[in-house]
Amino acid sequence: MTDVAPEVAELKRLIDESRRAVVFTGAGISTESGIPDFRSPGGIWDQYRPVEFHDFLRSEEMRREAWRRKFATHPAIARAEPSRGHRAVAELARRGTVASVVTQNIDGLHQRSGMADDMVIELHGNTTYAHCLRCGERFELAPIFEAFSVDETLPVCSACGGLVKTATISFGQQMPADAMRRAEEETLGCDLFLAIGSSLTVYPAAGFPALAKQNGARLVIINREPTELDALADLVVHGEIGPTLGAAVGVD
Ligand code: NAD
Repeated sequence: MTDVAPEVAELKRLIDESRRAVVFTGAGISTESGIPDFRSPGGIWDQYRPVEFHDFLRSEEMRREAWRRKFATHPAIARAEPSRGHRAVAELARRGTVASVVTQNIDGLHQRSGMADDMVIELHGNTTYAHCLRCGERFELAPIFEAFSVDETLPVCSACGGLVKTATISFGQQMPADAMRRAEEETLGCDLFLAIGSSLTVYPAAGFPALAKQNGARLVIINREPTELDALADLVVHGEIGPTLGAAVGVD
């Protein structure tokens, strides 16, 4: 493994110099919590192809398939605990260095690591609960799983009869306007943008690091493997997130 000690020292210096940092996270920060990412070998895409939004709307069988997959993948998310990387980010928020986290993740682990709900901007929603696609009513997963496990009963909204889906943004589904607006504001207001554990290939989310850089912020990328935006960054660390960020922030 490459020695990343010089990069860690530089990362610490950039963090110390920042007055308002934004953290942008992808699935990589949660692999150390036991949740597979999409693109690494053994990742979710090796096992399941995603159900696209229009298929979910159109077909009862696709809705069943989506809930079957949710059923199969949920245990890993339900038992996951925040990683050292999540804890380091929460510590930076506690110190006032990090103003907000913009995340592509849907696992709720930033909130579980102690960050206030309003500091976490979820671009792709949240898979730890469900909601009605028509009226937005929230539903917990346990009763849905219970009914589904008997005879694959599909959940419908008790308030308006609409379709109920996990509160995630599927492929083909419109991005959440409020989260996108807030993410853009935060990106434009920061002096340091830390992109952590993202392959930076999923747009429009992956547009934020470049926007921060164009606007004069320093850009740091921490990812095990190269990303297409590495050439743009002030610092790139090709290392493991927990040890890198944990050492730079002083969190075990
Ligand atoms: P991605 O799978 O495309 O990329 C993850 C990146 O993290 C990869 O480049 C990988 O090399 C790197 N990585 C993995 N573990 C690492 C570690 N311990 N240290 C350093 N680097 C590590 O994920 P993405 O960019 O977030 O985009 C895929 C989409 O998948 C997102 O839209 C997200 O909504 C969704 N997703 C979310 C979760 C989750 O919520 N935990 C999990 C899988 C996928």
